[in-house]
Amino acid sequence: MDEVRLNEAPVEGTNFIDDFIIEDLKEGGRFEGAQVHTRFPPEPNGYLHIGHCKALCIDFGTAQRFGGICNLRMDDTNPAKEDNEFVAAIQEDIHWLGYDWGDRFFYGSDYFEQTYAYAEELIQKGLAYVCELTPEQFREYRGDTSTPARSPWRDRPIEENLDLFRRMRAGEFPEGKYTLRAKIDLASGNFNMRDPVLYRIRYIEHHRQGTKWCIFPMYDFAHPIQDAIEGITHSLCSLEYEDHRPLYDWVVNNLSVPSKPRQIEFSRLGINNTVLSKRKLRAMVEGGVVSGWDDPRMPTLCGLRRRGYTPAAIHSFIDQIGVSKVTSIVDSSFLEHCLRDDLNQKAQRVMAVLDPVKLIITNYPEGKTELFETENNPNDPSAGTRPITFSRELWIERSDYMEEPVKGYFRLFPGNEVRLKTTYVVRCTGAKKDEAGNVLEVYAEYDPDSRGGNPADGRKIKGTIHWVNAADSLDAEIRLYDNLFTVPDPESGNFMDYLNPDSLKILTGCKVESSLGKVEPGVPLQFMRQGYFCADNRDSAPGHLVFNRSVSLKDSFKPKQ
Ligand code: ATP
Ligand code: MG
Repeated sequence: MDEVRLNEAPVEGTNFIDDFIIEDLKEGGRFEGAQVHTRFPPEPNGYLHIGHCKALCIDFGTAQRFGGICNLRMDDTNPAKEDNEFVAAIQEDIHWLGYDWGDRFFYGSDYFEQTYAYAEELIQKGLAYVCELTPEQFREYRGDTSTPARSPWRDRPIEENLDLFRRMRAGEFPEGKYTLRAKIDLASGNFNMRDPVLYRIRYIEHHRQGTKWCIFPMYDFAHPIQDAIEGITHSLCSLEYEDHRPLYDWVVNNLSVPSKPRQIEFSRLGINNTVLSKRKLRAMVEGGVVSGWDDPRMPTLCGLRRRGYTPAAIHSFIDQIGVSKVTSIVDSSFLEHCLRDDLNQKAQRVMAVLDPVKLIITNYPEGKTELFETENNPNDPSAGTRPITFSRELWIERSDYMEEPVKGYFRLFPGNEVRLKTTYVVRCTGAKKDEAGNVLEVYAEYDPDSRGGNPADGRKIKGTIHWVNAADSLDAEIRLYDNLFTVPDPESGNFMDYLNPDSLKILTGCKVESSLGKVEPGVPLQFMRQGYFCADNRDSAPGHLVFNRSVSLKDSFKPKQ
């Protein structure tokens, strides 16, 4: 692969965008000697989701690899629903991923005055005209692949265009009466080039500009101008803008803008069993289908964070799915796989019982408590150890006892021995049941010569189960999550029809070890034999512990052969 040297550091292309940039930076290239400058332009009308995350990792990551810079620009060109709540959330999410825009934080709307001036420049050059087609006529005159579009207003004199455009700005006309259109090519095979609308009249309040404007630029006009004003070299965007690139180029080539950025497109990320569209995510929030944008089932970055996703897991996911022009739908199990991989290294191992039943060790002295020092993370010796308490009454999982064991069951049943994780071997002696046959308590006797979990005589113990000490265990609520949608492609129909009724399961009365009383939200935990969890950053409090299952232990992801 080609490489260029920047600040003495060699940069090797990791994808096709890098390769284009390397070409551009070379001697004689389009941006020879320039510093790579990208931007991430989210529309502040919702929270960022994992799809945006792909885009922003490409924008910030590419700049980083080339020793360049990346701007954060709120694309608030469109005066529709926009909100400062979203702006702060977008910034928080980007910082969480480890990226920073320095002092280069902008709003597209801050360029409205300049954008307007550029529109006048086009008019002066005879490259834009005020059109009077009604929306209906617009459709009618649009033409088709074999018929060019038409507009009777195309040859309006420059002075008249200028006058009308200024009066549009002054608010003299109702919405829909006039538009400003670029004069490009009504016969173009690319419909985006058939004299696209550049400005339209809208009497609507803008979240930053108030009522200063009643004409608003279209994205296709505003975006290249914003990029050019900021000195962006490479304007990276998703593939749906590919057909708009000729217009992007036309805008920067026909205006006296300070730079001529290059647009490069990559494919969007899709994930199955979820939707990646702010509009749909918003509908779920507003419809009360989820508890908010940060509901741990949501594919938003704040939802993933609350669920227990780490920046490292997300970066690993984005790196591995790669950058290309081929549309790809990624299996949600791959995202989980990346999280599991990271948490396996990081998570502190603790014990929690989700469906508790009492285990009484009948030959263990009443009132006695032993301390066992246990490793916090066998994959990370630097994580240290912590003491856990053991006594006569413990909580174990209901499913770890079976009166009549099925074949291959090595846990507790009358007469069988199991190891209680890190402490002792116990032999089950029976259970007490209520009239309906529900197990109320399980009984066992421990082997005092098995301290640490291995019998002194070396006999083999097949099963090991987790437990928590009843006397100092804490009650907890545990939330288990599944896909929000039951079908791989919920967007194939009305997505709300495919909601998974079992996407959230709340378990109450769970028992967790006492060390979890003070755990910070988001700290990765492995509940042994159960999965990876974290304390909920919204609902968990010292007297009311709430844990989210981030991901189960079992990996359902199967790499393609
Ligand atoms: P949505 O429909 O979710 O609102 P959008 O494209 O309208 O998506 P913007 O806020 O305008 O959202 O997007 C900011 C950037 O994120 C754009 O450059 C866009 O191309 C990119 N982006 C959005 N969704 C995806 C996706 N699924 N995969 C890759 N990039 C995406
Ligand atoms: Mg958008």
